[in-house]
Amino acid sequence: SGYSRSSLLDGLNPQQLEAVEYRGQALLIIAGAGSGKTSVLTRRVASLLESREAWPSQILAITFTNKAAAEMRERVVALVGDHARGMWISTFHSACVRILRAEAERAGLSSTFSIYDSSDTRVTLKRIIKGLDADTLGFTPANVSAKISKLKNELADVDSYARNANMSDPQEVMFVEIFRQYTQRLRAASALDFDDLIGETVYLFRAFPRVAALYRRRFRHVLVDEYQDTNHAQYALVRELTRPVDAELADELEAQGLHVRNVQDSTGAIPGASLTVVGDSDQSIYAFRGADIRNISEFERDFPGAKVVLLEQNYRSTQNILSAANAVIGNNFDRKEKKLWTAGGDGEKIVGFTGYSGHDEAQFVADEIEALHQAGTDYRDIAVFYRTNAQTRALEEILVRAAVPYRVVGGTKFYERAEIKDAMAYLIAVANPDDELALRRILNTPKRGIGPATETQLGSFAADNGISYRQAMRDAAALGLGPKVTNAILQLARLLDEAALMLDPASPAGAASVSDVLTFLLEGSTLLSVLRSSRDPQDEARAENIEELVAQTKDFTRENPDAGLVDFLTQVSLVAAADDLDDASGTVSLMTLHTAKGLEYNAVFLTGVEEGLLPHQMSAHEPGGPAEERRLFYVGITRAKKRLYLSLAMTRAQFGDINVAMPSRYLQEIPADLIDWRQSPGMANSRGGTQSRALNARRDGYGKREQQGLPPAPKPKTEWANRVTAQVRDNGDLTLEPGDRIRHVDFGDGRVNQVTGEGTKRIAHVLFDSAGAKKLLIKIAPIEKL
Ligand code: ATP
Ligand code: MG
Repeated sequence: SGYSRSSLLDGLNPQQLEAVEYRGQALLIIAGAGSGKTSVLTRRVASLLESREAWPSQILAITFTNKAAAEMRERVVALVGDHARGMWISTFHSACVRILRAEAERAGLSSTFSIYDSSDTRVTLKRIIKGLDADTLGFTPANVSAKISKLKNELADVDSYARNANMSDPQEVMFVEIFRQYTQRLRAASALDFDDLIGETVYLFRAFPRVAALYRRRFRHVLVDEYQDTNHAQYALVRELTRPVDAELADELEAQGLHVRNVQDSTGAIPGASLTVVGDSDQSIYAFRGADIRNISEFERDFPGAKVVLLEQNYRSTQNILSAANAVIGNNFDRKEKKLWTAGGDGEKIVGFTGYSGHDEAQFVADEIEALHQAGTDYRDIAVFYRTNAQTRALEEILVRAAVPYRVVGGTKFYERAEIKDAMAYLIAVANPDDELALRRILNTPKRGIGPATETQLGSFAADNGISYRQAMRDAAALGLGPKVTNAILQLARLLDEAALMLDPASPAGAASVSDVLTFLLEGSTLLSVLRSSRDPQDEARAENIEELVAQTKDFTRENPDAGLVDFLTQVSLVAAADDLDDASGTVSLMTLHTAKGLEYNAVFLTGVEEGLLPHQMSAHEPGGPAEERRLFYVGITRAKKRLYLSLAMTRAQFGDINVAMPSRYLQEIPADLIDWRQSPGMANSRGGTQSRALNARRDGYGKREQQGLPPAPKPKTEWANRVTAQVRDNGDLTLEPGDRIRHVDFGDGRVNQVTGEGTKRIAHVLFDSAGAKKLLIKIAPIEKL
């Protein structure tokens, strides 16, 4: 072949090379951001294949997103050739779905089981909570689903939980009952939620050693990226997959015609698979989803004799960016010291910017993006990060106006749109006739005159007769409903049954494609034509979305000629936020800091670096909260290759209120000489003391208290707030009244329509002649009365 060992190992540093070539049972690669962890994992896979130590089918590599999986596959294929395509490179969830569908019967599942996303879970919980009147005890779909998810991530189920629950506490009793009903409903619907996918696979392996043995024999090399963000269930799964198979079971496999001789040792047993994990405890940002950093810190204890490789050279960022990252993360206590360095030179300084408002900050981002673009940076090499989705509003508004092409990664949520969920529910109901949730969703969509009472009645009829909801629909004539309603239900049941027949490979025309089935359902149900003939312009957009879905099913069939409806549904269920990326699109990427993990861009804008956003107010008082938020900040900084912008706003609109915002405590952790602070043009005529000086004055305000587990001291907060507002501008007691004309530094002239609030919080609602309607905090807005 044209692939040589040397090209595969080209350019690796000695530590990277060691990690690629190590051939022991367990390998831990622990290293800071941008040091080549993911690259090393990729090359290691390639090296195992190229040396013929492993067949592609013997590799299981786990990535954090489907997109990362696809990238890794392409890189390996580029290194060793097309035959490598058969590798399992996927997320934990995708790998588990594959295993569970293959072993469905043993796991007590239908192979066409549905996968419930968080909104499906919430709808189900809402019904249960309502039925139990549990809201009076403070239960909400949100708090219950969070608790259930946490338990499942620890591999607890309702029975194990109930055994240890304090059943004299009415809260506990109620929670157990909700959990039990939730479990039963999912079972009855042949549905698994996201957490179940991992947990059920672990249970399967534990309950059926022979099934486990099959997969242990098969996967000889298990590799996991971003290991710092695995939770307990995922850890347990990795352990199950990498255990040895004893001689007796190995013989049994051999007797079944599964060749195991090539993997048996001298005792006849199959040794555990080799395990490689890579991670960075400084980038652990999913504790709120149960990620457990101990999976890394205790790796050597769990896998005795494990080899540990440290990588310290960073290939991604300039020294200035790295120094900032090192300084920030150095404030987290209880961590292993590691210093990243780069041979790449200092590079440009970090640019800091303080805007007057979120709008002002967004304008700065847009202007800088244009400047970068003019100077030759592709839009696709630029990313804008934020802590919360709410921050996108101002950014999008300005980017649209500035004609900067952008996309919100993970924000379009195509598959979460109501009309798409409706159309998908038709497909789900065909694939999995037990899925009551899907059936109830489409029962009266489009409107067929079937009311909520009938919807519930069908459910009780099913329960009373021990039949499924779908069967109850087929038997609707027995319910004694009016003829119109009865007919509507029967017609829908028939439509779904006919669609199911189309999927049968034994049908005269052979199995129909996903798009044929979808088109058939859309026509039979009139879902699309109802939207098309509506006069509501929103319905027109909805119809277009459904047409886009049809187009996607066609693409899917073209790209996966052997795949069927269930494969399509699985793929849709498992798209994660970061899978939304499309490098070829030539647009700026907007995303949350969480989504940014593992990615890199030439220029990065980290916006909203303010107290309350970063660290987020929800986490500020939680144990470990500020440290985790600092890691999130660290992740954001280390995505930048060449240019890093840190921006904040003095005031931010939140929940319809305008609040004075304060610079994030993390900013003062960056050495002042690394940042070149620029201010808002709107502040140029104010006193304008430099940010870094003000920030330095605040040093040692927070860090120490945080280490002692104390919330931040309130005093420096007010002091700082006063300083900031004083520094910007103080209009004193400027009195504005409806009808007054004013001039704003950025927005030009406008007319005051209304004044609300009191004292320092007085807000002017202004209609600007060209900039439109704005709300301004009168005390500090850069305005004058005309
Ligand atoms: P993160 O912690 O953000 O996930 P990582 O440790 O996985 O980062 P990679 O994404 O693998 O790092 O690598 C960072 C960048 O450095 C990539 O652009 C990669 O191509 C490059 N890189 C890695 N190793 C080398 C090397 N030996 N020579 C040149 N470039 C390298
Ligand atoms: Mg990586």
